[in-house]
Amino acid sequence: MKTSVIAFPRVGAERELKFAAEKYFNAELSEEALRESAAGIRARQWRKMKREGIDFIPSNDFSFYDRVLDTALLFNLIPSRYRELNLSPLDCSFAMARGRGGAAGNVKPLAMKKWFNTNYHYIVPELEDDAEIRLAGEKPFLEFSEALSLGIETKPVLIGAFSFLKLLRFTGKKGIAEIRGSLVKAYRDYIRRFRELGAKWLQFDEPCLVRDLTEEDIALFFSVYEELLSEKGGPRILLQTYFGDLRDIYERLPELPFDGIGLDFVEGERTEALVFEHAFPGDRLLFAGLINGKNIWRNQYEKSLSLLLRLRERGIETVLSGSCSFLHLPYTLRGEERLSEDYKKHFAFAEEKLSELRELSQLAEGEEGSQEALRQNRALFSGGEGKADREIRRRCAGIRPEDYVRKPDFSERERLQKAEFGLPLFPTTTIGSFPQTEELREMRRRRRSGELSPEEYESFLRQRIAEWIQIQEELGLDVLVHGEFERNDMVEYFAERLRGFLFTEKAWVQSYGTRCVKPPIIWGDVSRVSPLSVKWSVYAQSLSRKPVKGMLTGPVTILNWSFPREDISLAESAKQIALAIRDEVLELEKNGIRVIQVDEAALREKLPLRKSDWYSAYLDWAIPAFRLVHSGVRAETQIHTHMCYSEFGDIIPAIDSMDADVISFEASRSDLQILDSLRENHFRTEVGPGVYDIHSPRIPESAEIRAALEKMLSRLDAEKLWVNPDCGLKTRRAEEAIPSLRNMVKAARELREERGTAVPVPDFSASQST
Ligand code: GLN
Ligand code: ZN
Repeated sequence: MKTSVIAFPRVGAERELKFAAEKYFNAELSEEALRESAAGIRARQWRKMKREGIDFIPSNDFSFYDRVLDTALLFNLIPSRYRELNLSPLDCSFAMARGRGGAAGNVKPLAMKKWFNTNYHYIVPELEDDAEIRLAGEKPFLEFSEALSLGIETKPVLIGAFSFLKLLRFTGKKGIAEIRGSLVKAYRDYIRRFRELGAKWLQFDEPCLVRDLTEEDIALFFSVYEELLSEKGGPRILLQTYFGDLRDIYERLPELPFDGIGLDFVEGERTEALVFEHAFPGDRLLFAGLINGKNIWRNQYEKSLSLLLRLRERGIETVLSGSCSFLHLPYTLRGEERLSEDYKKHFAFAEEKLSELRELSQLAEGEEGSQEALRQNRALFSGGEGKADREIRRRCAGIRPEDYVRKPDFSERERLQKAEFGLPLFPTTTIGSFPQTEELREMRRRRRSGELSPEEYESFLRQRIAEWIQIQEELGLDVLVHGEFERNDMVEYFAERLRGFLFTEKAWVQSYGTRCVKPPIIWGDVSRVSPLSVKWSVYAQSLSRKPVKGMLTGPVTILNWSFPREDISLAESAKQIALAIRDEVLELEKNGIRVIQVDEAALREKLPLRKSDWYSAYLDWAIPAFRLVHSGVRAETQIHTHMCYSEFGDIIPAIDSMDADVISFEASRSDLQILDSLRENHFRTEVGPGVYDIHSPRIPESAEIRAALEKMLSRLDAEKLWVNPDCGLKTRRAEEAIPSLRNMVKAARELREERGTAVPVPDFSASQST
């Protein structure tokens, strides 16, 4: 049985490309050296796949920054503001990806967006009316030839025309209809070039097909490919899909003469049913995506084999494949020296997944000697490996419906809290973190190396907290924060302090461009063994009469930014994490913290791609997990939450039903459309739509902030409105953060004077222990 890799990660096992590119950005490395480093990565990976016996090895899956951006460049879609810079092609692509400042003029980057339901972000290409679409680039052809010169025949991959059209942003009057023809022609030229180069197979990625499709979408897809596939005699064409199933078009697929069809059997909930209930066209190859490209657990061979067997019984000629690109996986377990073999044997990163492809295909063929792999694999799945913690299971099973309901109801709490806190109209606050300085990072390093004792490090953190409490007092903010100086990362910090998580040394996954993240692994049942944040919050509160917010990360975000378990459901995992965070919330409360923020920065991240699955497959457990976190607190304790985006116009009722008292979110860059939706949906949670953009070093004027607030007030009740930046300030410098906040407080005060009266702040410090 043949094997196929959809795409491989590309930053290098040691993140070589990241470091080389960053050096290049700083003019510390030449273009030639950067290209050399990239070629080295490609050669190593091709050879690795070849050694593992992969039959369909991808090329053109490499990118210096992003493959959607590369596709735009391939077809000459360069907005004029970048073209005018007259840069080299490489620098032009980086300008599009990252923006560019300096004497030659300032350009902002193209927008970046989440790649489907992953934590990868792609560059959104723009189409201007005067764009001249044509095959303009050489990259795919060069890389194909480069591999050939190493003696490796590859399958070039490209975002397919349908998905590319759907991902484009049209900035002028033109739309899909106007450019469809010229784009299809460019794709045909692409196919022709590969015919000349002798490629046997071409892969077109069409992930947009797994979303809900309209009639119009379906018509577009068919018309595009009827035209693309009309030429005979070129390379064979693989339609590659992933991240879901093709329920909207599956039955009609045989109408198009694809030579291969790639289906995702891991995330495609209905893929199996579609294949077995309808016929699979006999003359096509099925690329069966069985090896999970998004999670790091070993494949359960027995299960995969039984599926492969059933496909064979149906007479379907099958190629074994990853479920999606391996981009979403770390490179290899080989670099993990600290993790014990007992754990590691359960994992497969990208390189180990290549071995799984090989072993499974040998097993499917009944090759001699392959049985040993099956035996070993079977052993991994027998017995729970002692992962279940009886106490936690018992506690989860004992959760009653009323545990998800905070009492009294929202409006009663709002009344009580207004009296309790006596906050002024338009209360001002921040999202949690303050600048993470080089000094702080240096201290962290010295702590890790043992150069600093825990006491010395802690006393340094206390000084920072005290300093920033003082700054916030002087600024006149109403609800303060301790600044999160003790945290490196909002998920890792908590995962490290909870039981049940594992950490890696080098399991980096590309998030965008040169940025990589290292998600923790949820290994076993999660529980809280000791306080996570209490001492910092209590210390900060002891320094101020004003309320200081306790600051926690919510269960859904912790789950979404980790590698989840596959032996229990996401819902069950979320419940366990929620109980752990709930204990922390209650302990904060017991220690005199009266405002507690539970961040759900990533709540939207795993929202299913199809609307019809939003509630049943996700929100129906995600929202209750959040409610479980805070349902135990007193009516007077104020619960805040925060989200790093404002695209929740379509799930507003779900957000409201999280039943927080206050929510802050990003709004400064959006057109405030969200405010209309809040109004239409009678959103009752108090809201702090970010009044300025913390992602930019720019210091906003108070007049500008006031204008934003006035706009907000035209849609929201004054009593519901909070005033805050749109996210944490950890990436800003103090010289940016402080004046910005000063202007923010000024704007709120002016507005307050016009619209209401200030109320004196009650004294909380007396009740604090230190
Ligand atoms: N409280 C966190 C902070 O301020 C929230 C971070 C986030 O939303 N990503 O840094
Ligand atoms: Zn945020």
